[in-house]
Amino acid sequence: MRPAIDADNRALYDPCRLARASMTVLIKNGRIVTAVDDYSADILCEDGRVHTIGGDLKVGADVRVHDASGLLVLPGGVDVHTHLDWDFGVARTADTFGSGTKAAAFGGTTTLVDFANQNGRALPEALADWHGRAASACIDVAAHLILTRVTDQTLADMRAMIHHEGVSSFKLFLAYPGVLMVDDGSLFKAMRVARDNGALTCVHAENGPVIQVLIEEALAAGHTLPKYHASTRPSLMEGEATQRAIRLAELAEAPLYIVHLSAAEALAAVAEARDRGVPAHAETCPHYLFLTQEEYERAGFEPAKYVMTPPLRDHHHQAMLWRGLSTNDLQVISTDHCPFCFNEQPLGIKYSKQQGIGNFNKIPNGAPGIETRLPLVFDGGVRKNRISLNRFVQLTSTMPAKLFGLFPRKGTIAVGSDADIVLFDPEEHWTIRAQDHHSRVDYSLFEGRSVTGRVKKVFLRGELIVEGSKWLGREGLGSFVKRGQAGAI
Ligand SMILES: [Zn+2]
Repeated sequence: MRPAIDADNRALYDPCRLARASMTVLIKNGRIVTAVDDYSADILCEDGRVHTIGGDLKVGADVRVHDASGLLVLPGGVDVHTHLDWDFGVARTADTFGSGTKAAAFGGTTTLVDFANQNGRALPEALADWHGRAASACIDVAAHLILTRVTDQTLADMRAMIHHEGVSSFKLFLAYPGVLMVDDGSLFKAMRVARDNGALTCVHAENGPVIQVLIEEALAAGHTLPKYHASTRPSLMEGEATQRAIRLAELAEAPLYIVHLSAAEALAAVAEARDRGVPAHAETCPHYLFLTQEEYERAGFEPAKYVMTPPLRDHHHQAMLWRGLSTNDLQVISTDHCPFCFNEQPLGIKYSKQQGIGNFNKIPNGAPGIETRLPLVFDGGVRKNRISLNRFVQLTSTMPAKLFGLFPRKGTIAVGSDADIVLFDPEEHWTIRAQDHHSRVDYSLFEGRSVTGRVKKVFLRGELIVEGSKWLGREGLGSFVKRGQAGAI
């Protein structure tokens, strides 16, 4: 049983809640698409939730009506992998919660699950620090906790986080030794506590120590260009770590979620485990679906823009990822929005990719993507007949909400669910340009790419926050969402 939605918690971060509670909105004549349905109806939203869905609903003159003729009416996107205002020692991501969530909203995402980093501290301290920064969020936010040190106290704190703080997922790294990596024993211990308390363990699966050897060898040989980031993080070592995480989860009898899966070897391990009934889940990201390692052959320092972890792979891996999405061995598409500017910035943003000139290992790892997920997956997935429209909603909203304990409040359009709704024009052609984005980052991985399908209006709990290029939201509008049981679907 999932715990009931914690209504009181809606007030957190949101002092204007009561003032907005009377807002009533009617969305008329739209084509409602969820993970399972596709039909035409009107939606009446009241007090932040979907109140009525029906044909030709009649309302009073005081109700604001939005005509959705010709548009798809989708549940707001749920992005379960972002790093906003994230300090990991050698760099800090460029987006604040204010800028990052505004960008997410323009991309049709109304809920984020962002990573709070333990950073060697007690978990309550790490979460309190994250709350302090997340208070400026413009959309609803929830938190995963990254565990970097697993002591008995950490295990006790995990229980408190799950049962009292609404944090029902934890992430551990098998990469980045000395910074984020934990040993297998720590991962195993955390998995068992997560299992016993209805939480989901997320793993960054790459073999960190072996990659460290390859990085040191590359640098010793004078290989300092950004492209060596890719060659020192081979897909085999993603496959190895994924397989290891699965075996540990199997022994712990714990559900597992592999983040940002990019490699065919890793996917094969997940598929094989699922065939045996192991509750292994995995996500991939738009950059792995639409870009390849050819980007690392760009001139000059440009390839640094594409330095994210895992790196971009070749066409073979990409084809396997699309297959994994169609066979449900991959269940989620998230962004791994981890933004660093390419150029040094005059004001406010201290870190950039330029830190890695002369040493690829010093390039901050991560790339932006929070604003382009829905249009890219719609264009490259639905319009190219790789996935259905229902599957598109499932991958970008419903399944992430279900896996991470947000459903049915988030991830669908149904009576009683939050009125997080996106009006999406499936026919509009447009071109992705970083200058039009709302992130603080100065580039896009997809600069100049033409896509069809665009977010036109976005409602957060019934309130219109995006109307075309117009921003109607504000910082602090987002609420913290306490999550229920995760990892059970
Ligand atoms: Zn990440």
